[in-house]
Amino acid sequence: MNFSISATNANANRHVNASTNTNVTVLAVGTSRGMGHDGKGFTIVELIVVIGVIVLLMGLLSPVLSKVRESAAATKCRSNLKNLGTGWAIYADASPDVMPAAVSLPAVIGSAPPDELTIMHVLREQIRERAVYECPSDDRSYFAQRGTSYEYLPGLAIALNPINAVELATVARENPEIVPILADAAQFHDAPQDIVSPNLTVYYDTHVDWLFDAIPSGS
Ligand SMILES: [Zn+2]
Repeated sequence: MNFSISATNANANRHVNASTNTNVTVLAVGTSRGMGHDGKGFTIVELIVVIGVIVLLMGLLSPVLSKVRESAAATKCRSNLKNLGTGWAIYADASPDVMPAAVSLPAVIGSAPPDELTIMHVLREQIRERAVYECPSDDRSYFAQRGTSYEYLPGLAIALNPINAVELATVARENPEIVPILADAAQFHDAPQDIVSPNLTVYYDTHVDWLFDAIPSGS
C-alpha cells in the first residue's frame, strides 16, 4: 500500500516538473522584449537576426560561389579538350592527308544518325575514356543524349562542301593553330567580354582557347 502511494506522488512530481519546464521554455522563447542574452538560449529577435544575417551572407556569397564553380568547370573542360587534342594529334600524325569526314555533333540537329561515323568512332583507339567528351557545364544534356558535349567542327565544314576534307587537312597542316577541331557545342562558360564565341575549343595543334572562327575562311 505504501509503495503504491509513493509511486503516485512520484508521478505527480514528475508531472509538475514537466509542466514547470514547459513554462520555462515558453518564457525563454516568448518574452523576447527586453530580455538580454543571459546564457539561457536565443530569443526570437536574436534568432531572426541570426537567420537574417545567414540569408544575407548566402545572398552575398552565392554569385561568388557560382563563379568559383564555373571557373572549376571551365578548367575541367580545358583539360578534357587537351586530352581530346592529344588523342587527335596521334590520329592526325598517322592520317595527315585527309580530315576525317565524321559528322558534326551534337548541336547540329539531325547530324548523327546511329550508323554515321562520329568523332568518337574516329578516335576510339586514341580516346578510350568516354568521360572526357563531357563538358561539366553542358546544361543541354548533349553528352547524355549524343555522347559528347563537343562539336566536331571540321565535320561541319566537310558537310557543307565535301571537297574540303582534303583542303582542310592541307590548311590544318600549314596553320595548325587556326583550325579548330572540337569545341563546346554551345556557349556553356563565362568568358571575358571581348570574346566573340565563348566556346572552349581545342585546335589542330592541341592548344585550347576560346573559339574565334569556327571554319577558316577560304577553305
Ligand atoms: Zn566546356
